[in-house]
Amino acid sequence: MKIAENLTAIQSRVAEVARAAGRNPAEVKLLAVSKTFPAESVAEAYAVGQRCFGENRVQELEAKAPILPREIEWHQIGHLQANKVRGALKFASWIHAVDSLSLLQRIERLANEMNAHPKLLLEVNISGEGSKFGLRPEEVAPLLEWLPEDAPAPIVGLMTMAPFDVPETTLHEVFGGLRALRDRLQQETGHPLPELSMGMSGDFEVAIQEGATIVRVGSAIFGHREYT
Ligand SMILES: *Cc1c(COP(=O)(O)O)cnc(C)c1O
Repeated sequence: MKIAENLTAIQSRVAEVARAAGRNPAEVKLLAVSKTFPAESVAEAYAVGQRCFGENRVQELEAKAPILPREIEWHQIGHLQANKVRGALKFASWIHAVDSLSLLQRIERLANEMNAHPKLLLEVNISGEGSKFGLRPEEVAPLLEWLPEDAPAPIVGLMTMAPFDVPETTLHEVFGGLRALRDRLQQETGHPLPELSMGMSGDFEVAIQEGATIVRVGSAIFGHREYT
């Protein structure tokens, strides 16, 4: 039961870091990123109480979601191709990496058609590295301004990936930068953006210190990933 053990350890660490930062641990959602791991691994984490899981590829989401408990809250976290939007909308209640106006428009159109209401996060590339995807900070406001009041899928916050192997000060700049951008956009557009999806196995502690409300943790829970 290595997964159960890892999960318990990460849950305590998340709560501990939140408390030390003067935050309420209940404000930080732990998303277990199960990409590349089989449905059995998800079931193992589910059995010890984990309910929120993240997948990077829609094909994997489509393979696992139908054979696992319906109570699971699925998050589509990776770059989403236009031709995969339907699959994501079928199973995901959150989509983390909306990174263009055309993708946003397609999601809204198909969500309306499919009567789906996922929560959306806009992916921002804060540092100019870290991810080859993501909006530049100045590209975010136009998406918020385009979104109709009665859109089926609301934008509820921002998401980012930090570059790998950078000093902790850089992580603070990236995650603090996403929070500052969120604060500014809320003021300038009046659009509420309560959610900040940031932090992974190697950097979730800094992300929580900087205000993350969702941390996306994979390998620290499920172990080393083998890509085929
Ligand atoms: C894989 C992945 C994660 C989790 O990464 P770990 O380092 O294994 O915790 C988080 N977010 C995204 C977008 C990912 O693709």
